[in-house]
Amino acid sequence: MREKIVAGNWKMNLTFEEGQKLTSEIVQMFRDENPAGVKLVLNPPFPHLYPVKKLIGDTANVFLGAQNCYDKASGAYTGEVPAAMLRSFGASFVILGHSERRAYFGEDSAFLLAKTKQALAAGLRPIFCCGEPLEIREADTHVAFVVKQLEETVFQLSAEEFAQVVIAYEPIWAIGTGKTASAEQAQEMHAALRAEIAKAQGQAAADACPILYGGSCNAENASSIFAKADVDGGLIGGASLKSRDFIAIAKSF
Ligand code: 13P
Repeated sequence: MREKIVAGNWKMNLTFEEGQKLTSEIVQMFRDENPAGVKLVLNPPFPHLYPVKKLIGDTANVFLGAQNCYDKASGAYTGEVPAAMLRSFGASFVILGHSERRAYFGEDSAFLLAKTKQALAAGLRPIFCCGEPLEIREADTHVAFVVKQLEETVFQLSAEEFAQVVIAYEPIWAIGTGKTASAEQAQEMHAALRAEIAKAQGQAAADACPILYGGSCNAENASSIFAKADVDGGLIGGASLKSRDFIAIAKSF
């Protein structure tokens, strides 16, 4: 049985008070409603990490994640945050390779591989994002495009390192657009990626690797997407900012 994971990416949203309220509600609902076998990951902006961790406390199956880390361990890099520091503040996961970081901050595969290695060395599990823009989807070259993103990054890792990786498939045309991939489109890509993982890292790694879907996933569409054989959960943007919706998604397996 593969892990089931629902991760919330708050992106650049919420004040301190709003973040505290949201986290308190999510933790309470998760405890009360106890979605069986699901791991929940909250990925707030950096300033929220420690207070959110305090609210999570020792709640079983609720984890803290960051939205980014740097590719160096420490030193004179003003404004950056390293993986080991995130770990020391209680983070277990870190989102890397998000299309917004690739597009707005020019993050390329070499940089993302270096960050991924830093994260793993610090004991953080990368939630590694991949996904194609609309023109690639329309040209029907989306599978090759996404496979290349993985070949240049996580497929370069050792077997021991790769075993910690969570992959998130996020078609760029579905992010924040309200236009989700169909369950069939998600399954097609996830199955293709799992087959490529088997080639690159072996069948056992492919069988074990959680592959999450992201892109306008919400309380209405999550169950049809999560019902697909190779979809192991979701990386949720907008709907992770509403406690009731986020918990509903966590109960959609
Ligand atoms: P939305 O769920 O808001 O489309 O965002 C998806 C995403 O980018 C999660 O990382």
